[in-house]
Amino acid sequence: MKAFNLLLLLLLSLMLSACSNNITIKLNAIDAEQIAPVKVHIFEHILAQPYLIETKNTLFVVDPGAAGNEKMIIEKMQQLGRKDLAFIFITHSHFDHYGAAAALKTKYKVPVIIQKEDALAMAAGETRLPKVNGWGYVGRFFLPLGELLWPPGKIKADIFFDKEFNFKRFGVDAIALHTPGHTPGSSVLVLNDKFIFAGDLISAKRGKPTVQRFYADDWSQIAESFYKVKTTEPELVFPGHGKPVSGSEFQKLVPVVIPSTE
Ligand SMILES: [Zn+2]
Repeated sequence: MKAFNLLLLLLLSLMLSACSNNITIKLNAIDAEQIAPVKVHIFEHILAQPYLIETKNTLFVVDPGAAGNEKMIIEKMQQLGRKDLAFIFITHSHFDHYGAAAALKTKYKVPVIIQKEDALAMAAGETRLPKVNGWGYVGRFFLPLGELLWPPGKIKADIFFDKEFNFKRFGVDAIALHTPGHTPGSSVLVLNDKFIFAGDLISAKRGKPTVQRFYADDWSQIAESFYKVKTTEPELVFPGHGKPVSGSEFQKLVPVVIPSTE
C-alpha cells in the first residue's frame, strides 16, 4: 500500500508539473488559395496536446485538451493579438481532448464541432474506454484520477456531422472525415489536402509513431480508418499525443491486429 501511495504521489507530481511549452510550426502551404503560411501552434502537455491553427482567414482550435488548457490557448491568442477564434473542432470525446472546450466556448462564443456518434458522451462529460489492450489497462485504471485532476466541462456540440464535414463556411480549406475505432465518433481534420490532425488514431509519444493500440471501441474499425487516412497521402500528421509525423513515416505505419474483445 505504501509503495502504491508513493507511486500515486510521484504520478500526481509528474502530472501537476506537466510542461506547457508551446512550439509553432510554419507549414509549406503557400498556393493560390492560401497566400499566407499556415501556422500551427502546438501546446505540449502530458495528456493530449491542443492545437491552435492560423490560416490566412481563420483561427481555430483542434482539441483544446484537458480542462485548464484554455489558459495557455487564451494567452497565446493574446500574444498574437487575436480574439477572432472561428471554431473548436474535437476529434473525439475523451476528457483529455475536449475538457477545455467549454471554457473556450464561453469566452469566445464559438461553435464546437464533433462527429455525431461522440456528441452524447461529450455532453455528459464522459470518457469511455470500452476495450483496452496492453498499457491501456493502466490508462483505464488511472482514468478516474485524470478526470478528478482535470474535470472536463460538459459541453453540447453546436455542429454534428456524419461521414464528412466541410469547413468552407469558416473560410478554411479543410474537411473532417469520420474515422471510427478509437471511439465511435472519432474523426480527423484534413487541412489543405495535406496536413492531418489525427486525434488518437495514431500516437507519437516518446517520438515513436504507432497506430492506436491501447484503447478502442472497435479494433477492426481502427485499421479501416487508418487505411482511409493513408490513402489521402498526407504530408504531415499531427497526433493527439506526441510530435508531428512525416508523410513517409506515416505511410510505413501498420495497424496492430487486435481481436475486438477484451
Ligand atoms: Zn482518446
